[in-house]
Amino acid sequence: MSQTPVRLRVAPSPTGDPHVGTAYMSLFNLAFVRQQGGQFILRVEDTDRARFQADSEQQIYDTLHWLGLQWDEGPDIGGPYAPYRQSERLETYRPVADRLLAEGKAYQCWCTPERLAEMRAEQQQAKQPTGYDRLCLGKSRDERAALPGFAETPVLRMLIPDDVALSFTDLIRGELSAPRPDDQVLMKTDGFPTYHLANVVDDHEMGITHVVRGEEWIASTPKHILLYDWLGWQRPEFAHMPLLRNADKSKISKRKNPAARLTWFVDEGFLPEALCNFLGLMGYSLPDGQEVFSFEEMVASFDWRRVNPVGPVFDVDKLRWLSGHYLRQLPAAEVGVRIATFMEVTGAAADLVARAAPLVQERVSTLREAAEMLTFLVSDEAFVIDAQAAEKQLGPDAEPVLRAAQQAVAALESFSTEDIEAALRIALVDGLGLKPKHAFGPVRVAVTGKTVSPPLFESIELLGRERTLQRLAAALG
Ligand code: GLU
Repeated sequence: MSQTPVRLRVAPSPTGDPHVGTAYMSLFNLAFVRQQGGQFILRVEDTDRARFQADSEQQIYDTLHWLGLQWDEGPDIGGPYAPYRQSERLETYRPVADRLLAEGKAYQCWCTPERLAEMRAEQQQAKQPTGYDRLCLGKSRDERAALPGFAETPVLRMLIPDDVALSFTDLIRGELSAPRPDDQVLMKTDGFPTYHLANVVDDHEMGITHVVRGEEWIASTPKHILLYDWLGWQRPEFAHMPLLRNADKSKISKRKNPAARLTWFVDEGFLPEALCNFLGLMGYSLPDGQEVFSFEEMVASFDWRRVNPVGPVFDVDKLRWLSGHYLRQLPAAEVGVRIATFMEVTGAAADLVARAAPLVQERVSTLREAAEMLTFLVSDEAFVIDAQAAEKQLGPDAEPVLRAAQQAVAALESFSTEDIEAALRIALVDGLGLKPKHAFGPVRVAVTGKTVSPPLFESIELLGRERTLQRLAAALG
């Protein structure tokens, strides 16, 4: 264990719905921090003003909290290195940029975007490697202004040396090297730093000891290492986590896969503890191969060497299975509270849902599935019968069944599950000579609106006599 406490960070950019990768990175960062004893920092990297979205930051907090992940320092809670939002730290980056310029490690570039695009097109046509051609290097502003494609406001570019060693050690992947990078822009014309400058400056200023991020940043790491070395700052350790992949092995993206959005899991009613477990299984395994584990168990055995760098496939069916598993482990009362919260019902409706929870706990994998099964209990005016269910079960044959059910329910003295069942069996199975399937199918659809519901007699008991009779009458039209 290291002497100084470790400090790790997750650094999402608020550019829309939070990406599932943010949760994935947070989980692994946090597992290591909690194992080693140290701090976990949430830093908001909002220097890309073109892609910035104002409500995204709050969504990041909300979804990570929903998952049960907690940070020790961040824009919402402050901390010794505040501010934790890069747009509020602009004065931190400027002096570093000036220093790199003064020391000849960086240079100003006045090329217009049009000139850069032309240059790139020509390079591509000539089958040359693309990259900035250094037209501005070594020129004064006036010298450059005399040439075409000149913009008033310059950017600042790194002067990447030709003979630089660009390899580094990755905690997951071992020795890595990347091709020599282009002269990376560090400061943009809008006065904002690029990700590369801001990220390195902040990781240094905030005392970050380990940079744990997605493998898409491997190619950037040599530039970052160069900046650390130029500035005489100690390099952090690096670990690049595998990218989550779709079943066809393509990278999970928000455009193509709803599961790339963290809010999707909340809306679908997956249990957060199941998602945590599931993300923990992505490229990682416990020493004994156990698949169901808590965050604490992951922390206890955590080791970067156990992370498999080959992109893990994001299998939502597996998550569904885990969610069902966690749901069945919970006390029924807790399940009731969670379903009611998911359904956004309170008071008497929430009590009814809580009483019904044990009826669905074994049958569903998500809170959404539970809510869909129980919505009939808490809707009156809003109650609707699924069109397909009606077509299947409420044809002309259903009429005598529903009428007999009406009479039986109306005549009941006590309204318990057992009595309801006995009365309906006598009226429909014995009385009408129907098979149970044909006897209870129409009643189920009339009362719950669906062909798949919690157990019928319990459902009727919970719904109560009056509402049951209303529904039977409504189904009869
Ligand atoms: N803002 C970067 C991102 O989106 C952070 C990458 C890093 O952790 O260095 O994802």
